[in-house]
Amino acid sequence: MKKEKLLVTSALTYANGKLHIGHVAGSYLNADIFVRYQKLIENDVIYIGGTDDYGTPISLKAEEEGVSPKVIAERYNQSMKKDLEGINIQLDNFSGTSRPRHIEISQDFFTNLLEAGYVTKKTLKQLYDKKYKRFLADRYIEGICPHCKAEGARGDQCDSCGKLIDAINLIEPKSKISGKTPVIKETTHWYLNLPKFEEELRTWLSTKTYWKDNVRNFIFSWLNEGLKERAITRDLNWGVPIPLENTKGKVLYVWFEAPIGYISSTQEWAEKKGKPDLWKDYWLNPETKLIHFLGKDNIPFHTIIWPSVLMKQKEPYILPYDVPANEFLNLEGQKMSTSRNWTVWVEDFLKYFDGEYLRFYLAANAPESKDSDFYWKDFQAKINNELNNILGNLANRTFIFAKKYFDGKISKPDNLSEYSKKTLKEADKLAGYIGKSYNNYQVRKATRLLMDIARSGNKYFDETQPWVEIKNNKAKAEETLFVCMELLRIISILYSPIIPKSMKKLRKMMNLNKKILWKNLGKIPGKFEIGKVSQLFQKIEDSEIKKQLELLKATQKGRKEMIKHKEEIEYDDFSKLEFRIVKILEAGKIEKSNKLIKLKISIGGEERTAVAGISQSYEPEGLIGKKVAMLINLKPRKVMGVESQAMILSAEDDGKFAVLVPDKEVKSGSEIL
Ligand SMILES: [Zn+2]
Repeated sequence: MKKEKLLVTSALTYANGKLHIGHVAGSYLNADIFVRYQKLIENDVIYIGGTDDYGTPISLKAEEEGVSPKVIAERYNQSMKKDLEGINIQLDNFSGTSRPRHIEISQDFFTNLLEAGYVTKKTLKQLYDKKYKRFLADRYIEGICPHCKAEGARGDQCDSCGKLIDAINLIEPKSKISGKTPVIKETTHWYLNLPKFEEELRTWLSTKTYWKDNVRNFIFSWLNEGLKERAITRDLNWGVPIPLENTKGKVLYVWFEAPIGYISSTQEWAEKKGKPDLWKDYWLNPETKLIHFLGKDNIPFHTIIWPSVLMKQKEPYILPYDVPANEFLNLEGQKMSTSRNWTVWVEDFLKYFDGEYLRFYLAANAPESKDSDFYWKDFQAKINNELNNILGNLANRTFIFAKKYFDGKISKPDNLSEYSKKTLKEADKLAGYIGKSYNNYQVRKATRLLMDIARSGNKYFDETQPWVEIKNNKAKAEETLFVCMELLRIISILYSPIIPKSMKKLRKMMNLNKKILWKNLGKIPGKFEIGKVSQLFQKIEDSEIKKQLELLKATQKGRKEMIKHKEEIEYDDFSKLEFRIVKILEAGKIEKSNKLIKLKISIGGEERTAVAGISQSYEPEGLIGKKVAMLINLKPRKVMGVESQAMILSAEDDGKFAVLVPDKEVKSGSEIL
């Protein structure tokens, strides 16, 4: 079969912080697994990445710390590189976009588009900080979101509702550097004329029927909203300078120049190899399949803006072959947020656990077609119940038995039983599916099918009972061990893209070749000879998980929670609600419920029954005689067999409730307005 040529990239990560599990699940692990598989089947593949060193998050952080942005970018470039190595993500090159080569090529790209007539200059109004004499781009400005009215919306996007914002529309805008209200001033920027690309883009995208559904849906909803001209420059000091006269203080916008980093990183790789032109063999070779791994927020930039930029260069760059975008990974049921420290930093994870465990868990739980969750307890369960109890157990019991009764030497029997043949045949069939899954970016499926092979090995071991056969028919016991070792040998090849270090260890114990190749799957050896053996995996104790959950909570303390607001309502909607102060006459527990309390209340003399879900915060006796706020015109509804004719108002704080009481003595029945 002809070797394929592949160029694989992971989305460039902002160099304003450390690597966290969201980065890993979004675009690094899936790319690394894919690349490792391509190497197993002996394709020609290179894996390229790096940091996005520009953009306002980095310059803002630099200003906070009083250092140059380059210092910040270098610091996090190095720290990410180290953390990626810690979890065995093997990029061929990890560069950064503030390196000179990148600046030069980005400027060339801009000039080419300008000369070809795809970039236009425009004058527009922007927010300007008078004190610092600077235009305020993106995150240099904060205010109230014009869409959802949440506070703390940035000049480019609102974290509460996720909508993109034009800074000029922010309500009560404030400069992040001076804290003052900015003024509006005219400035000049360059725009990429995207509408001009529309037809060409549609034609090209129409051939991408094999792209993932989530990606295609995203693109077509973008296209159908109509492409607009997009500014590709900014008024900032940190960035790639515009290669034109009299444009001091203007740089290329990160969305425009960051993807060019894939090319400059490949050039850097070629240079390091001592073959400076080797990058052309990939980027300018129509045979190369260019595959961008990224998170869903990056889809439009890689499928619409980036291909447009590539199409109009002087040299014939290849366009993306596939863009297998992932959805998001949440943490303990909540959206991850680095500003709230609601994440797991890879550096911290590695202080407590083996990086292989992170790879395994995130592969089994990859957000491929919808968002997925990282739960510490689920992490523990997957490591203990699958890696240890299924795969680890198969290796352990097979090796111990072989050592004890056969001195570790197991020969292939002359004839295999039907059951043995069937077991091996099924594994072979699954191997085919696993290969397909790897090729189709279905890491979850591959992980599951692989565990099925190990599971069938345990079942086979149990049913052939070598511990019985060893006394009656030693050859039978040896056959069982041979089949189990063959399954382990197959697994050591198949699982190597996901947990490479563990599979290397397994192969070492089995004295198998160092070089792992897919084509060796079917080559059953004549005998196995195992060497020194040890446990493949370790179980994770409850106390270790408890500690992680405590650490996660501890870093949250004192932090401002982002409140998710409901949509606005009209005054008419509000005025329909009748709130009154009522007196609690009687209170008692409702049987079979650990949350509900039954109340008898008086609304200025009128008695009613109400059910309140507050028994974890109140003893019924303590409520009797209290005057509290209630909503009294909600349609009555039955709760655990009791009709509730009013709803108590209470404030919830972390699962605890506090009922609302008036600040001064008022009579029962008083209306709340
Ligand atoms: Zn908003």
